[in-house]
Amino acid sequence: MTTPLEEEIRLLIAAEGPMPVSRYMALCLGHPRHGYYVTRDPLGARGDFTTAPEISQMFGELIGLWAVAAWQQMGMPDPFRLVELGPGRGTLMADALRAARLVPAFGAAARIHLVETSPVLRKAQARALAAHEERTGERVSWHARIEDVPAGPAIVLANEFLDALPVDQYVWTGAGWHERKVGIGAQGQLTFGLDTAPSRMAPALAAHLPPPAPGAVLEVMESGPARALAGRIAAEGGIALAIDYGHAGGHGDTLQALKAHRFADPLADPGEADLTAHVDFARLALLGREAGLKAFGPLEQGDFLARLGLAARADRLMRDAAPNAAAAVAAAVRRLAGTGDGEMGRLFKVLALAHPHLGTPPAFDPSEEFTR
Ligand code: SAH
Repeated sequence: MTTPLEEEIRLLIAAEGPMPVSRYMALCLGHPRHGYYVTRDPLGARGDFTTAPEISQMFGELIGLWAVAAWQQMGMPDPFRLVELGPGRGTLMADALRAARLVPAFGAAARIHLVETSPVLRKAQARALAAHEERTGERVSWHARIEDVPAGPAIVLANEFLDALPVDQYVWTGAGWHERKVGIGAQGQLTFGLDTAPSRMAPALAAHLPPPAPGAVLEVMESGPARALAGRIAAEGGIALAIDYGHAGGHGDTLQALKAHRFADPLADPGEADLTAHVDFARLALLGREAGLKAFGPLEQGDFLARLGLAARADRLMRDAAPNAAAAVAAAVRRLAGTGDGEMGRLFKVLALAHPHLGTPPAFDPSEEFTR
């Protein structure tokens, strides 16, 4: 069984030759008719994966309070843009806005901008934020790209957004970095192969890494969205908070497919599985610094949430809850902040990119500025 998108990818490869991993990933996730995010809501128990805001309301609430503190540090601009990249079902933003009602001036000054390509998820976001629109009379705006968000100081939130950006991969053969491409194998199946000529771009991209062993994989995230984000904050003021699973630089193939909460073969069923790569926070920090921003972190998600008061928030919820619900709150705390297998506290990292006038962002320490 081949998917409709696989047919199309085969035709493209037959016409143009093997395609970069980033092109393959972009088609799988964003193809206008068959792309994974275009055709479905992938989140939740019946979908393919679950994210922190879907695990517990505490996640979005704490991020909302962080945003209030960041806004106060920015000098309480009114209006300002509260932007979310890839908002999924809109749960994080809805929880954040509800928690932020503690400081009514924040909500009154916030103009909500969602950057989202999926028509299915835009609908879910509209439902999640209908109560906010009703209460404030403010309309939420949607955009396809960061570049389309109107000017002005901004607080930008991105949870599990950067992992969906296409990556290119290069393999060290001992003689050079050779780009990995998706081609057609001897049995007619989609297969990975290497360019015979070494890449001319890769050596510069690998320059900050230790010398590779043969077989090492260099993975490079598409830089357009990160550059657009950083350039905007440098020009207009504000801060961005990126939360994702990832690392702070190194070698490794992290391209993975998830289907029905299980790992799958990234080349099987194109368009039917979620494809992601771990975020290279060192590169993100570097792109921010190149634009003139200061980078802080990456902190582990568990530490970040602890600093924002996860324990106190959980206690408060448990005090008012029935025994079953209290156990669910305790389980959510472990899932979000625990450091064991399958828990997010250590695997997920938090990086802030701040305008240099802002100082050290809330929940970060001056010693945590990324200066590598
Ligand atoms: N932040 C949400 C959803 C994460 S899933 C949560 O934590 O639950 C990734 C989100 O990014 C989805 O909303 C998806 O549609 C969106 N997305 C993926 N690639 C995108 C792109 N290139 N531009 C805009 N949105 C994108």
